[in-house]
Amino acid sequence: MTDDCIFCKIAAGDIPSEKVYGDEELYAFRDINPGAPSHILVIPRRHIPSVTDAGPEDAELLGKMMLRANAIAAEEGLVDKGFRYVLNCGEWGGQTVFHIHLHVLGGRPLAWPPG
Ligand code: 5GP
Ligand code: ZN
Repeated sequence: MTDDCIFCKIAAGDIPSEKVYGDEELYAFRDINPGAPSHILVIPRRHIPSVTDAGPEDAELLGKMMLRANAIAAEEGLVDKGFRYVLNCGEWGGQTVFHIHLHVLGGRPLAWPPG
């Protein structure tokens, strides 16, 4: 738990969120400012600022995030039509919260390339 991290506080339940999934290692919740009908953030409970800070010891955790996102996408009914995963990395990548989070976005056609 990093005291000044909003996502550490959300994972700990100190800041309320709309929970989608939780286990010992992972937490998933709905984005407060959704960019699509389904917009869920999958995070590790452990504070890692960005995916570029992950090391070999985090390989299993990152894999679990991806597989959990797959399960959430299926639960949200996104798989047949298609949807998007996003990992924003650093300032130019559009990262605003520096605690790894995997965006699951879907429920409407999504434009590409991004802005
Ligand atoms: P980033 O831009 O870092 O990839 O994504 C951060 C996301 O976190 C944004 O989509 C933003 O709407 C969401 N967010 C920021 N603060 C909160 C919060 O307090 N609660 C929830 N549920 N989402 C948040
Ligand atoms: Zn954190």
